[in-house]
Amino acid sequence: MSPDPSEDEEDVTWVSFSSAGYGSAEDDPWEDVVPVPSPDPEVDWYDDDSIDGEAAIQWDAPPCPAPLGIAHLIRIGCCDHCLHRLSGRRTEKRGSEGGSELREQSILTNPDLSDVGSGSDCPTCENLMDDARNISEIISSACEGIEYATMQVGVHIPKDLMEEEDAIRTRYGAPASTPLKATFVEEIQSILTGEIGDIEFVKERPDLMILIDTLTLRVEVDVRPVFIYGRYIKNSREIPQTRWPCRSCRGRQGGCEACGSSGLQYEDSVQDLIGIPFAGTMGAEDTAFHGMGREDIDVRCLGNGRPFVLEVKSPRSRSPDLAEFESKISSTSGGRVVVNSLRFSDRKEVARIKQTRSEKTYTIRFSTEEAIDQENAVSLIHSLSGKTVEQQTPRRVSHRRADKIRKRKIVSIDNVEVHGEEIEMTLRCEAGTYIKELVHSDEGRTVPSVSGTLNSKCEVIWLDVENVHAD
Ligand SMILES: [Zn+2]
Ligand SMILES: [Zn+2]
Repeated sequence: MSPDPSEDEEDVTWVSFSSAGYGSAEDDPWEDVVPVPSPDPEVDWYDDDSIDGEAAIQWDAPPCPAPLGIAHLIRIGCCDHCLHRLSGRRTEKRGSEGGSELREQSILTNPDLSDVGSGSDCPTCENLMDDARNISEIISSACEGIEYATMQVGVHIPKDLMEEEDAIRTRYGAPASTPLKATFVEEIQSILTGEIGDIEFVKERPDLMILIDTLTLRVEVDVRPVFIYGRYIKNSREIPQTRWPCRSCRGRQGGCEACGSSGLQYEDSVQDLIGIPFAGTMGAEDTAFHGMGREDIDVRCLGNGRPFVLEVKSPRSRSPDLAEFESKISSTSGGRVVVNSLRFSDRKEVARIKQTRSEKTYTIRFSTEEAIDQENAVSLIHSLSGKTVEQQTPRRVSHRRADKIRKRKIVSIDNVEVHGEEIEMTLRCEAGTYIKELVHSDEGRTVPSVSGTLNSKCEVIWLDVENVHAD
């Protein structure tokens, strides 16, 4: 609060004495009642210890680009980098060299400034700008041997420095001066361009994400994943889609006796049969597998295959020859897994794949209690075509799915063939239909069902996904 003298008789008296030159008199009778002005909140950075001495008090220094403003920045110890970015002046050279030009010019008219060290304790960057080259070297050596075309540089600067820098820049910097963070990042980028050459700096979806912690001078290089889209065909009834942790040891590091130290319940998975060749070639740490739905281990997936996106994590190279992988994967998997339609993709497509709910066509073979007359069976089964069934969460998945009733449509049923006590048929269903349960009814939890319609116990012999109607 700044007192308004017109409202306070005593203060008016003080102001008149003070301005009459009595303020510094040895016998100033008002000495003990001199009010201390409260600090202006806009400039309370001034109380910070990092600005030394009385020289910093320049309450009337105008902002840059005024020469007095530049002189003030020199006086409070700004480094040449900060002098340049806050000055609002055009200089021959940029960065610290430009700042050095400005300093020399300012010293010509303010010789006292030559005593001020050139920013050994810069209040607007705490000499961070001097570390730019060092940090750039750390970055370029950390990126050695990694393939990338684009890079995003992020920097963490301690909050108190950010606040102090902001206060000084707002008060003394030229309008629209570049803040410290942006200047620092630009400097790093310009040094890296000089050292490494062809890099594009981007604001999103980079190949490499660089995070600099200016407090510890630590650099973190995050190699962003490569996403590969494709469709897989699974010709085996013994392979899960994704890695399946060992039931005994729950997949702990090093595994156990039961899983032969692999940590896996099944040695192979579609994920690994596709992912391991890619990870090997690309020098990647690991993969994640995003399928458009999944089939059970004992269900084959045929036709033109199930869409998936393979996420290759932290790869050292990012441009594998995809065509080559189509034959490579089918040969390393012994034909159990075959891929097609491979192309590069992105994280957005993972979301699309996960959200897409497509109809599927299946072929299923099941047995009945006793032989059923062909004609009778065909017409009974066909009566389910076009029907909507209610499926209570199957017992076999109830440990990981909420118990509720789902309504799913049987789009069509075709090719019903009766071979004595076995029946085979093709059916197209809405996404999310439990096909095995549709046949055996899961003890009446799926209504209507093939078992109920035939009035016979039914047991699934095998099931194939014939087609995922995705596109
Ligand atoms: Zn500085
Ligand atoms: Zn195990």
